[in-house]
Amino acid sequence: MRKPLVMGNWKLNGNNQMVKELIEGLKSELATVTDCDVAIAPPSMYLSQAELLIQGSKIALGAQNADVNIQGAFTGETSAAMLKDVGVHYVILGHSERRTYHKESNELIAKKFAVVKAAGMTPVLCIGETEAENEAGQTEAVCQQQLDAVLNALGSDAFNQAVIAYEPVWAIGTGKSATPAQAQAVHQFIRQHIAKHDAKVAEQVIIQYGGSVNADNAAELFTQPDIDGALVGGASLKADAFAVIVKAA
Ligand code: 13P
Repeated sequence: MRKPLVMGNWKLNGNNQMVKELIEGLKSELATVTDCDVAIAPPSMYLSQAELLIQGSKIALGAQNADVNIQGAFTGETSAAMLKDVGVHYVILGHSERRTYHKESNELIAKKFAVVKAAGMTPVLCIGETEAENEAGQTEAVCQQQLDAVLNALGSDAFNQAVIAYEPVWAIGTGKSATPAQAQAVHQFIRQHIAKHDAKVAEQVIIQYGGSVNADNAAELFTQPDIDGALVGGASLKADAFAVIVKAA
């Protein structure tokens, strides 16, 4: 049985006070949750602060990105070792916003995936098609390409100790979530594709859905057999809404 993972991707939001208040709110709202893993991914600037604040709770720490380089003259970057050093457990990679605004390729993302694993953390690989790709019937082909880049680089058990987040780009921040049936069909495809390489890994890998998940639509999404939790953007910035999503998982 897979234990669902609900993770909040705070993106470029927050300040000292908000980090403190949101985490304190989450700690009290989520004190009794045991059947769902919970993580938050604040901006890297606030990871150390968040790590202190989550002490004594079941909330795990996530990062939104890591650099592909180990160390050296790479101004402005954050290495996987640094993330590990400040207590990060999960690292989101290949988010569509990084693919779009930072021109991250499948190949670069696969390299980052290897670096994050080698540093002893769990990568959360985001995949998903754009609206145009969706309308052109290319959803499965795009997701497969994004998965294959990692499978080719790391081998057939690449997704052992890793998480996949299916985030259709057209559903991110639009208020237009995929329907439970639409998401389930893609999640099933993803799991079957992983199974072609390693059946045991496919059975165990957590596949989150992301894209306009909120307190109202989470429960129905989570009824689907291949949806193992969610990667939540906007609704993760409010403790009460995020707690409803966690409790629905
Ligand atoms: P929203 O929940 O705001 O649509 O964002 C989803 C997302 O991109 C999570 O990584």
